Amino acid sequence: AFEQLAADFYGFENELTDQEKEAIAALRAYLETEVKPIVNEYWERAEFPKQVIPELHRLGVASFAWDETKPFDNSAVFRGFVALELARVDGSVATYVGVQNGLAAGTLSACGSQEQKDEWLPKLASGEIIGAFGLTEPLSGSDSAQGLRTTAERQGDEWVINGAKRWIGNATFSDITVIWAKDVADGQVKGFIVPTETPGYTATKIEGKQALRSVQNADITLENVRVPERLRLQNANSFRDTAKVLRATRAEVAWAAVGVAVGAYEAAVKYASERVQFGKPIASHQLVQDLLAKSLANITASLALVVQVSRMLDAGTQRDEHSALAKAFTTSRMRETVAWAREIFGGNGIVLDYDVTRFFNDAEAVYSYEGTREMNTLIVGRAITGVAAFV
Ligand code: FAD
Repeated sequence: AFEQLAADFYGFENELTDQEKEAIAALRAYLETEVKPIVNEYWERAEFPKQVIPELHRLGVASFAWDETKPFDNSAVFRGFVALELARVDGSVATYVGVQNGLAAGTLSACGSQEQKDEWLPKLASGEIIGAFGLTEPLSGSDSAQGLRTTAERQGDEWVINGAKRWIGNATFSDITVIWAKDVADGQVKGFIVPTETPGYTATKIEGKQALRSVQNADITLENVRVPERLRLQNANSFRDTAKVLRATRAEVAWAAVGVAVGAYEAAVKYASERVQFGKPIASHQLVQDLLAKSLANITASLALVVQVSRMLDAGTQRDEHSALAKAFTTSRMRETVAWAREIFGGNGIVLDYDVTRFFNDAEAVYSYEGTREMNTLIVGRAITGVAAFV
């Protein structure tokens, strides 16, 4: 049965329909019983727990958003709470879903022809195939709207892609990777569905990450990779189309940031009630309550923001600056909240067994990916002033 989260202090979950609540309850039960117990071990080994993939997909995590696959009509607020639930247990599992669902399936949905959507979305939704999204490059991160060096050249009925990508999530085990490349003929950014067994495509795991350690990120090289025109995303004609995908995924990441904050906060509340110092639980010390109350305020303000951004998505009024403001704000509040949670754990706050250090480290990646705080701030700044200050 569905139970409202204590961290949802103002009761935003009351907006969900009974069917949506049931889906959240089923996902939460699975995450609590099967995923939570194993995530620290996988985080330490820097390995993704692939055994969770089939059940996550059966529970709908990559199906809900798309007309071609959704099991029932649902709201963007509901899908936001799905992202929150995943991140509240583990940022890496949430990121796996964010890539598969938001970035890979999201690109197919926004930029694919109907034929391409019918072919790929059901397979991504069921987890039959794993997708990745290759935009960032070794020499181009924040400036990817203009700075991409990867090229695509049309030769007859084929495209020849050359270049390199960096940080690409899920890409060590993806079956297809969406590659964004500049068309040498018109200089516009186009998108290609690249099957990863294509000759000339190589993905190498990035080692030594200290945040989201279980997520597999890869460096990709593309040497004369040939894909048929059939695999060019038919509705991706310039970076504007890439930006459409990012607008939606940034809102999802804003939700996931609330989830990371909630996970750390819940762990801190529990620990504070159990840990005794000066003859009483530390929860009864005023300065500890101050940290908890400020954390709950961060979570509540962030939730109010993302709930409204999702309502705007459903109403068709969400613009780039709305999701950019949410991503910059909730990730900043998350960063503060996980640090306060870690503080409440004292020395145990740096030991993996207590979970909070995982949230603390993972927050750093969530803070920087899908547009850094600076980039999202500049998107908002452009909306306020009418002046683009990126360059
Ligand atoms: P840079 O762009 O080099 O920025 C460095 C610093 O300079 C930042 O603080 C930035 O804000 C600042 N800066 C840059 N320009 C300006 C400016 N004009 N004004 C002010 N400050 C500025 N990418 C993908 O394509 N697919 C993925 O699946 C993917 N997954 C990722 C997963 C993880 C764990 C991480 C860490 C990254 C992932 N990324 C992915 C890449 C991510 O989107 C980039 O890291 C991010 O966009 C920032 O780019 P960068 O790291 O190159 O930093």
